[in-house]
Amino acid sequence: MNPPTPFSVRPVALVTGASRGIGRAIALGLARAGFAVVVNYSASEAAAREVCESIVAAGGTAVAVGADVSQSLDRKKLIAATIEAYGRLDLLVNNAAITSPGRLDLLAATEENWDRVFALNLKGPFFLSQAAVARMLPLIHSGKISGAKIINISSISAFAISTDRADYCLTKAALGMMTGLFAARLADEKIQVFEVCPGLIATDMTASVQAKYDRQIAEGLMPMRRWGAPEDVAQAVVAIATDAFPFSTGERIHVDGGFHLRRL
Ligand code: NAP
Repeated sequence: MNPPTPFSVRPVALVTGASRGIGRAIALGLARAGFAVVVNYSASEAAAREVCESIVAAGGTAVAVGADVSQSLDRKKLIAATIEAYGRLDLLVNNAAITSPGRLDLLAATEENWDRVFALNLKGPFFLSQAAVARMLPLIHSGKISGAKIINISSISAFAISTDRADYCLTKAALGMMTGLFAARLADEKIQVFEVCPGLIATDMTASVQAKYDRQIAEGLMPMRRWGAPEDVAQAVVAIATDAFPFSTGERIHVDGGFHLRRL
C-alpha cells in the first residue's frame, strides 16, 4: 500500500523561477506570510537551495524543485512534486520568464528566439495554470482548501513598446488577456486571478541595461525616480496572496513607481 500523501497545515505556494531576482523575493515573502513554498528553478539549483535554507532557518517550510517551465513534461513534474511534498496547492505564481535574447530589432527578430520566449513566458504559464487548476479544483470541492489564487508576473512591457524586444512585449501583453480569461473562467470555482506588472526592477534581467535605465530614471522616466527592488513586487504579491483583495479578480496591479501614468 502507498503511504498516505501528506497534507500541509500551511497553505502552499508554487513560485516559478524562484531561485533569483523577483521570484526569490516572492518566495521569501510568501514564506514569511505563512505559506509553504515550492521554489522552482531551471538552472540555478544551488541558488534555489539557498532560498529554501533561508526559509527553513526563519522557521518556514520550502522545497526546491527543478523544472523547465517551457517544457510540458517538466510542468507536469512540477505540479506532481508539489502535491507529493505537501498534498495541496493554494497559490500559483507564474514568475519565470526570459527577456528577448540579444534584444534584436524587430526587423531582425528570429523565429527561433520567438519560440523560446513564447514557450517560457506565455505557453508555460498558460498550461501550468491549467495543470494547477486541475489539482486545486478537487481540493476546493472537498473543502480542503479555500482562497486559491493564480498570480501572473507580467511587466510594463505589456503596454510599453520596446522595438528591440518584440517577442517579450507580445508575451507580456498576452499575459494580460490570459489573466482575464482565467479570472472569468475560474470565478465560479472560487479561484481569483491577478496580474502584477513590475516596472524597472534591479535583477539579473536588467543588469545589462542598468546604465541606460540609470540615466532615464534620473531624467524622470517615472514619477518615483528610483529602481524598484524585488521586494517591492513581493509585497504586492503577498498582499494579494493574503486576501487583501477579496472582491477583485482579473485585476492588474502596477508596481512601477508610476511609470504607467501618462503625463503632459
Ligand atoms: P531574473 O533575475 O532573470 O530571474 C529569472 C528567474 O526565472 C530565475 O529564477 C531563473 O532560474 C528562472 N527561469 C529562467 N528560465 C526558466 C525556465 N525555463 N524554467 C523555470 N525557471 C526559469 O528575472 P527577474 O527580473 O527576477 O524577472 C522575474 C519576472 O518579472 C519575469 O516574469 C519578468 O518578465 C518580470 N519582470 C521583470 C522586470 C525587471 O525589471 N527585472 C520588469 C518587469 C517584469 P534559473 O536561473 O534556475 O534558470
